[in-house]
Amino acid sequence: MSTFLKESSRSGDRPLIISDTTLRDGAQMPGVHFSVDDKVAIAKALAEAGVDVVEAGFPAVSEREVEAVRRICAEADVPRVMVLCRAVAGDIEAAWRALAEADPDRRGVGVFLATSPLHRRYKLGKSKDECLRMIDAAVVQARRRFDKVTFSCEDGSRTEPAFLRRAYGVAMDAGATGIGFPDTLGVLTPEAVKRRVRMLVTLAHPRGVKLRVHFHDDLGLATANTLAAVAAGADIVHLTVGGIGERAGNAALEETVMALRLHARQYRRAVGVDPARLTSLCRLVSRLSGVPLPANKAVVGGNVFATSAGVHQDGLLKHPDTYLPFRPETVGAEGIRLPLSAMSGKAALALRLTELGIALSGAELAAASRLVKNADPSEWADEEALLRRAAAMARGKGAA
Ligand code: MN
Repeated sequence: MSTFLKESSRSGDRPLIISDTTLRDGAQMPGVHFSVDDKVAIAKALAEAGVDVVEAGFPAVSEREVEAVRRICAEADVPRVMVLCRAVAGDIEAAWRALAEADPDRRGVGVFLATSPLHRRYKLGKSKDECLRMIDAAVVQARRRFDKVTFSCEDGSRTEPAFLRRAYGVAMDAGATGIGFPDTLGVLTPEAVKRRVRMLVTLAHPRGVKLRVHFHDDLGLATANTLAAVAAGADIVHLTVGGIGERAGNAALEETVMALRLHARQYRRAVGVDPARLTSLCRLVSRLSGVPLPANKAVVGGNVFATSAGVHQDGLLKHPDTYLPFRPETVGAEGIRLPLSAMSGKAALALRLTELGIALSGAELAAASRLVKNADPSEWADEEALLRRAAAMARGKGAA
């Protein structure tokens, strides 16, 4: 285990609440169609991984969505189940139908209303005052049913800061126990996130209200923005497994967890997710969502612990930490792979030849390595044949 990771479990650090929205925002990704059984299986895996909150769905969408939330509450050992509602009465009643049977401590709702000028004018056709009245009415109604109510300003990142403060103020006056700040379109940078989050923390914390953040990856900054929000004092982070979600997706659970773990001394937040579950969790969600994990996917991609380049292979064979940010077992991956290529050196070639039962002398190995490096790219289609041919030719030269 590297020296970095020894610093990872610190007592006394303030807990960071990990709220997974794979089953809500992730489920909105085009082409993803989770069955009720899929949702229950993912919720169980999230519970086993140590996620604190599961956002299980959007009950107003359908009776099937209501049924999925009910089954998750009954079958998955998740500490808390949240569902999403628009700031309208029917959505809050649908949430109640989904969660009425759940333990009051284990359930909650997230209510949202769009607050940006674009959404107010074109989507809602409502004035600022009309929006504030809707927020008040929805939060009051939700609090009659639920102890935990988070209010979010949809498109919060493109909302005027002064109106953002008013909207959250109305929500907290109406009894919201949490406020959510979503960068719905994924437009913020980490510097801007820090400024917004500091402002919102100043608003929320004196009233005992928690701040939740939600970032999208349209600029490839979702995880960086999540870390910036954590550094600025956010209490709850919304993440998805594999980063699936609307458009470019959400901040990825596996990336955020590993960044916080590797830099525990910097962030000083306790995270309950077991990193050794991350690889299997990502593979499960990939299989059930049909969204493949790219080979170069951060943390869990097939190439994170694989290298073909000679310099890297030689270093890895001498000590794994020379070319790894963390060990495969830390995230539950199988192990280091050293696939051969024209970029590979003698160390990895010798290892692969040993696996094939071929032992060469030093001079033969050098000759075989030269042949392999200069092989036509098409010869890699049958790697074993290429290596046997090169070894035989190298031996022939050695004997000659
Ligand atoms: Mn979203």
